[in-house]
Amino acid sequence: MKINVTKSSLPLYKEYCEEIKDIWDNYCLTNNGPKHNKLEEEISKYLEVENTTLFVNGHSALEIAIEAFNFPKGSEIITTPFTFVSTTNAIVRNGLKPVFCDINRNNYTIDVTKIESLITKKTVAIVPVHVYGNVCDVEGIEKIAKKHNLKVIYDAAHAFGVKFKGKGISNWGDVSMFSFHATKVFNTIEGGALCYSDKALKAKYNSIKNFGLNGNEDCDFVGCNAKMNEFAASMGLCNLRHIDEYISRRKRVVEHYKSKLSNIHGIVLLKEQEQTISNYAYFPVLFENYKYDRDQIMNNLEKSGVGSRKYFYPCTNEFSSLKMYDFNNTPVAKEIANEILCLPLYPDLSFEEIENICKIILS
Ligand SMILES: *Cc1c(COP(=O)(O)O)cnc(C)c1O
Repeated sequence: MKINVTKSSLPLYKEYCEEIKDIWDNYCLTNNGPKHNKLEEEISKYLEVENTTLFVNGHSALEIAIEAFNFPKGSEIITTPFTFVSTTNAIVRNGLKPVFCDINRNNYTIDVTKIESLITKKTVAIVPVHVYGNVCDVEGIEKIAKKHNLKVIYDAAHAFGVKFKGKGISNWGDVSMFSFHATKVFNTIEGGALCYSDKALKAKYNSIKNFGLNGNEDCDFVGCNAKMNEFAASMGLCNLRHIDEYISRRKRVVEHYKSKLSNIHGIVLLKEQEQTISNYAYFPVLFENYKYDRDQIMNNLEKSGVGSRKYFYPCTNEFSSLKMYDFNNTPVAKEIANEILCLPLYPDLSFEEIENICKIILS
């Protein structure tokens, strides 16, 4: 048996070749070409959001989302450490200070009951994470943000296609970042996007991702280069045609796992969220007082050729580069990080493979 924790979704070889063919007619390889522009439009439609700006990757998109608000240097941003290190890095690389808020035990997103006690005069924004595609308490966050006049910038890297109360998830908050990395539910090889309602942000994002140039022989910002190229956008156009099928096949996998691992002492699975359409991005399992600990399970799987991932371990506030911002505010996040394991999940994982994986865990 050889099973990786994930397997990138690819369209048929022929479909991709067909998609990139006209690049040999127009010689447009990058700089917001026709594929890029078409993909922006189609993603806005698919995610049911007014505006989309594409980027070379999700991390750059998040960094630029924060940069574009022009917060005074040294301002504080409330976020969680139970995430990929990109989230925290995007804050620190903007010269801002991450203030770590704990997560809740139900779905591992930010614990909204703990946000207000962390707000100071320097707080300018909240950067919550829809971790594993789980929807944060978007309404609770909105209330707090309005009351204290804070921006809300979602790390929605995991949440492509997720809906809450009948609306695309990026309709909450000022702006949401999606990652289109090869390992994500929807990929453009490498890529990312910002989705938002305020049209005024569009010109700013476009300028920052293109060195700050404004098209009039001048620069408005000290920008960088974070544009998505036409080959990546072509991959996106192909994968987007199949995204509903990818997600429904992921759902099948998750349901089969659940049928095998539910109601077992010491194994905690995520509960489905109410009024939410999931994208089945990950299958995290918590081993809490189970007969084996998380690391033993991971090793046993590894011995049988099954990859799993300690996603997320450690918390970002335990990294050498970031632990100076840790003030021991996040005991729940640290506990969950020690017990969580993501099992293999991709659209064509077979029932037989799932059953073999579960057998190893249970035996
Ligand atoms: C993948 C990911 C990112 C970064 O996205 P890239 O496209 O890889 O740059 C940021 N945050 C989270 C939570 C992620 O999983």
